[in-house]
Amino acid sequence: MAKNHNLGFPRIGARRELKMALEAYWAGQSGQDELLKVGSELRKKHWQLQADMGIELVPVGDFAFYDQVLNTSCMLGAVPPRFGHRSPDPVDLDTMFRMARGRAPSGADAAACEMTKWFDTNYHYLVPEFDADQQFHLGSTMLQDELAEAEALGIAAKPVLLGPLSYLWLGKNRSHQGDKLELLERLLPVYRQILDQLGERWVQIDEPVLCLDLSDQWREAFAHAYQSLSGAGVRTLLATYFGALRENMETAAALPIDGLHLDGVRAPEQLVHADALLRPDQVLSAGVINGRNVWRSDCASIIERLRPLQETRGDRLWVAPSCSLLHTPVDLDQEDTMDPQVREWLAFAVQKVREISLITQGLNGALDAEGEAELDANSRAVETRRSSPLTHREAVRSRMAGLSEADYSRRSPYSERAPVQRARLDLPLFPTTTIGSFPQTEDIRRTRAQLRTGEIDQAEYEARMRAAIEHHISEQIELDLDVLVHGEAERNDMVEYFGELLGGYAVSRFGWVQSYGSRCVKPPILYGDVYRPEPMTVQWIQHAQSLSERPVKGMLTGPITMLCWSFVRDDQPLHETAGQLALAIRDEVRDLEAAGIGIIQVDEPALREGLPLRRSDWSVYLDWAVRSFRLSVCVAEDATQIHSHMCYSEFNDIMQSIADMDADVITIENSRSDMELLASLTDFEYPNDIGPGVYDIHSPLVPEREHIVELLDQICRHLPAERVWVNPDCGLKTRAWPEVRSALGNMVEATKIVRRRHAE
Ligand code: GLN
Ligand code: ZN
Repeated sequence: MAKNHNLGFPRIGARRELKMALEAYWAGQSGQDELLKVGSELRKKHWQLQADMGIELVPVGDFAFYDQVLNTSCMLGAVPPRFGHRSPDPVDLDTMFRMARGRAPSGADAAACEMTKWFDTNYHYLVPEFDADQQFHLGSTMLQDELAEAEALGIAAKPVLLGPLSYLWLGKNRSHQGDKLELLERLLPVYRQILDQLGERWVQIDEPVLCLDLSDQWREAFAHAYQSLSGAGVRTLLATYFGALRENMETAAALPIDGLHLDGVRAPEQLVHADALLRPDQVLSAGVINGRNVWRSDCASIIERLRPLQETRGDRLWVAPSCSLLHTPVDLDQEDTMDPQVREWLAFAVQKVREISLITQGLNGALDAEGEAELDANSRAVETRRSSPLTHREAVRSRMAGLSEADYSRRSPYSERAPVQRARLDLPLFPTTTIGSFPQTEDIRRTRAQLRTGEIDQAEYEARMRAAIEHHISEQIELDLDVLVHGEAERNDMVEYFGELLGGYAVSRFGWVQSYGSRCVKPPILYGDVYRPEPMTVQWIQHAQSLSERPVKGMLTGPITMLCWSFVRDDQPLHETAGQLALAIRDEVRDLEAAGIGIIQVDEPALREGLPLRRSDWSVYLDWAVRSFRLSVCVAEDATQIHSHMCYSEFNDIMQSIADMDADVITIENSRSDMELLASLTDFEYPNDIGPGVYDIHSPLVPEREHIVELLDQICRHLPAERVWVNPDCGLKTRAWPEVRSALGNMVEATKIVRRRHAE
């Protein structure tokens, strides 16, 4: 009889209960007890739900108040010295929050740890920081505590841990050079200590880095590490996800482990391969339900696919999602406003849990009448989606087919465009600007909600949004910024907003997915051919521009970011979908330009995260990604300045592609990783204008003027002054006005100081 398990469940709550509790706690509106209570209620609810739906081993340890990698750092006692943690003490909750956010209700402010994308997802983890003399100790008993909590409720629990090699891989040496693998010997005893406390249970040890390009040295370290952990009494299930193991498969299969979990969605072929390599007494966990997308699985065909494996492995075949369900929304049952046809094609975490259990029962010939009916309904839904006219639009297809190379290039090269734009825009040296959004105040949020519920009508809504734009423009003039933005008040989110306006998209009400800490995003669902029924931003930008002589930037989200931050159809290649998105954006660029807007920013913060995990797959992706961006903007005349913004500064290895995008100006995140970007910009001789972010907007701390002056001096040592822009490192929507005013005020003053120096 095949068995099943889950790798992880979303923790934010069906109604984002965790978000609300965290933010109340951070704001001092509630105590720690209340936060802890919400945490334990959510865990209990989610465990119970999984068990009730037929999950045989329920994950424990997948919960986190902020981030599971940060939890691991706390468990391993890896707290950077600036947080004042003393070594043998347990790491308390506020220390953990200070590591994440720089600030907590108790304890002194300190610079937050770096945050970066979790593999190729839109989830962010806190990067572990290591010192030359880094020591580890058991810093938290949260795993043991949660395990006890689950078992007291009668849950068949499987503790989940991030494995030692992935933990080291994801971390960073702070202030010294050196091989992170040297830390392994110090790390393993703490892992051993944790495992020893888990008795003979199944333990899921996540080692997603096995899906990356590893050196021989890292592969050998795997063998060594798991050898030295193998004496513990636990049964280890080594979990890999987000891709194929490829050349790491042999290494993984040869480890002294009791089972191996593989991503059978992104790399279906590897299940059979692993089945041949694993001993009969080892578990093969088949990740067949997509943990990264929202489409219903074709359960009947998965059952057929798994049947031969079940015949050889019996109860050593486990049915599972491809990865933790952290990356999917919680429950489709709440979606009462979605087009019922589209809704029928979807499955969120709760529904996916049910699919896992149905597939297991189907394999075991144990379906009851209700289960049979569910499986039938599943097959019908999969079939209607396959043949639905809703997903197909001829006009889009023929437009795509009729494109020529000229549609992918600006009229003239940057060297000719730049003087034309300079003459038109007449900006000072070091133009100051922002990335687009201003604080999403209570008032703004309420206005959008009131329109949704019908409390105010469209006319009233538009009047209030115009008032918000007027406020943003006057604030920016007061601050003396050079290139203004309208502030994005009308946007709940930079991707969802466009998802609501484009054809081929559906939006959910509660389809929230955690992005970082308490931040969630609600990716729109791209189910069919994409098109733009009518202009989406022109009236707002035009209004903003009417209020000032200074240039206002039009603000759009680029095709790759739309693609990466949506739940995207899986029935055609991604590059085709990206091309359709690009055409829709191109229409908007053309209309903005026709309305007299001289600067248009097309954001691509997700460009880098869309990179395939394996280097050998990069060039194919970068090629179509860059072409899609170019298709979206190259309709612009020479005199129109195209900006793009990108987040997360590990750009060093894709510099050529960023240059190939041929934006006139890029603004780019930089400040949180200590300007390491600059060196590579110099080496590469980045050809166009660039604004390396001069302060970190993810932290509530206000940057000092002198600090920004220093950064600008440093930037000027690397880049020619006439091509440098000054801006924060990302949008300001999550910040509050007082911080924004002081931070931008300091930024503008710092710029003026540096400008004066350059004029001398
Ligand atoms: N224009 C967007 C904003 O300012 C860009 C956000 C992003 O890079 N994630 O909010
Ligand atoms: Zn950004």
